[in-house]
Amino acid sequence: MDDLSGKHFCPEHATCPDEATLLALADGELHDPALAAQVGQCATCSHRLAHLRQLQASLHQRLYRLFCPSSDTLLWYRQGWLPPERATLVEHHLQVCPHCAAEFALFERSLGGADAWQGPGRYTSTRPIR
Ligand SMILES: [Zn+2]
Ligand SMILES: [Zn+2]
Repeated sequence: MDDLSGKHFCPEHATCPDEATLLALADGELHDPALAAQVGQCATCSHRLAHLRQLQASLHQRLYRLFCPSSDTLLWYRQGWLPPERATLVEHHLQVCPHCAAEFALFERSLGGADAWQGPGRYTSTRPIR
């Protein structure tokens, strides 16, 4: 079995971070500007980091859909019919998931009216997904 942690793949620099560290950097888990700058200096590692970032992005995209509430749930949330603890989950999800935010915005438009949702307001800024 291949253990990624501690594995050093950079042939040029012994000081370059290992795979696990690069992954943490790509994920934003590890915030280390000095290390990021060092990786930027190394063609091998910055290329590797870009690749890992891409992987992470597509992974997150799939996760979005995996944890997405159904349209019914969104509608229920919009109508205020969800129990508070689920409403909180949906509210948080809408702030991080552009897919559902877009769907929710659609509900808003079709249901509309004076009682328009007054929430965090980030759901209107649907950025294009890569
Ligand atoms: Zn390197
Ligand atoms: Zn979602």
